[in-house]
Amino acid sequence: MLRRWIAVSSLAMAACVFLASCATNPYTGRDQFTLLSEQDELQLGAQAYQEALAGEKKITDDVEYHGRVERVARRLAAVMDRGWDNIPPPRFEWEFHTVDEPGTVNAWCLPGGKICVYTGIFPACMDDNGLAVVMGHEIMHAVLHHGNERISQNMVAGIAGTVLAEALGGDDEKNKEMVAGLFGIAVGVGVLLPFSREHETEADEQGLYLAARAGYDPQAGIEVWKRMEAMGGGGTPEFLSTHPSHGTRIENMQKWMPRAQQHFRDAPKQQTAALPAPGHARIAAWPTEHGHAAASQAGYAEVEEGEGKEKRKRHVGVLEFRVDRSLYVEEAAVDGPGGYRQKVEGKTGVPGGDTRQIALEGKGGKPAPAGKYRVLLTGKIDGRPWEQEVVFDLR
Ligand SMILES: [Zn+2]
Repeated sequence: MLRRWIAVSSLAMAACVFLASCATNPYTGRDQFTLLSEQDELQLGAQAYQEALAGEKKITDDVEYHGRVERVARRLAAVMDRGWDNIPPPRFEWEFHTVDEPGTVNAWCLPGGKICVYTGIFPACMDDNGLAVVMGHEIMHAVLHHGNERISQNMVAGIAGTVLAEALGGDDEKNKEMVAGLFGIAVGVGVLLPFSREHETEADEQGLYLAARAGYDPQAGIEVWKRMEAMGGGGTPEFLSTHPSHGTRIENMQKWMPRAQQHFRDAPKQQTAALPAPGHARIAAWPTEHGHAAASQAGYAEVEEGEGKEKRKRHVGVLEFRVDRSLYVEEAAVDGPGGYRQKVEGKTGVPGGDTRQIALEGKGGKPAPAGKYRVLLTGKIDGRPWEQEVVFDLR
């Protein structure tokens, strides 16, 4: 049985990955070498977001917790969307999620403005000002294309090329973790390739300005790092990994503070209050979502399998479906003519507008029979359960 997704549409994308560009970043004035197009970056961000959220059990919509995160995030996003001075705004479709995990001192933002905050970071933030500085830092990693730059450096070093090509349509868990790791987030026990110290310093500086422009007191930044240090550096996540030493970081912040305070003086001030203690949020029992996938086409195709002498061609039935928003597919259960049954493990994030294909093989190496097929797709949307039946006519 052929049990995998074929990702034809993704191959074209992997090819355009190699169009390099070198450009001066308008925020920092630094020359950056990037191999992924902005389009690729946004697509990978959307995909990695769905994959990361699918593994989170404690996503909360509690207004005392998520409400706080969302309020600050929306204000920061609004400042970015207006554009800074003469810099055009990033083309982000912002999304915010909160996970109530006291033990996880972490927050991250993927390309496209896909944000996740863990309540374990609340005690270090203390209030909205601190939360704004932390989120400002994460947002600026995404705005400054740090993930793209790091992926590009790794591709030149020959590490990420095949990994990335696979991840753009492949089905290997390790590869997905690697891509998430390249963007600076760790999924499950995934590999985290930390941002460089230069990236961290840039995110610190620009993040401080972002918080201040949104009306949050940048002075809170210094206190956040002091509390972070007091909490100990035991965690592996983004925040406690390869950040500059706390001493250097605080010295830097003091250096940037006059400019940050100027932005703060010019901005309409925001209300701030203490954040709640982590671990007490209401974890929603999400209803199952339906919809969002539709049959795109069905037919027979030749696929090549194996490598070298093992290489052979197979004639298979192919069912292709399209999704209208980003989601995570766990499994496809296929029912067809004459009692035909097959289960396909998916475990893949699919960005909105993308298609995925299911290959069907019949008995004794023959192609699957022609006729009507029902496919029950199950997975998650933003960490919430999702399922849908899609009907195909294979001929
Ligand atoms: Zn960072």
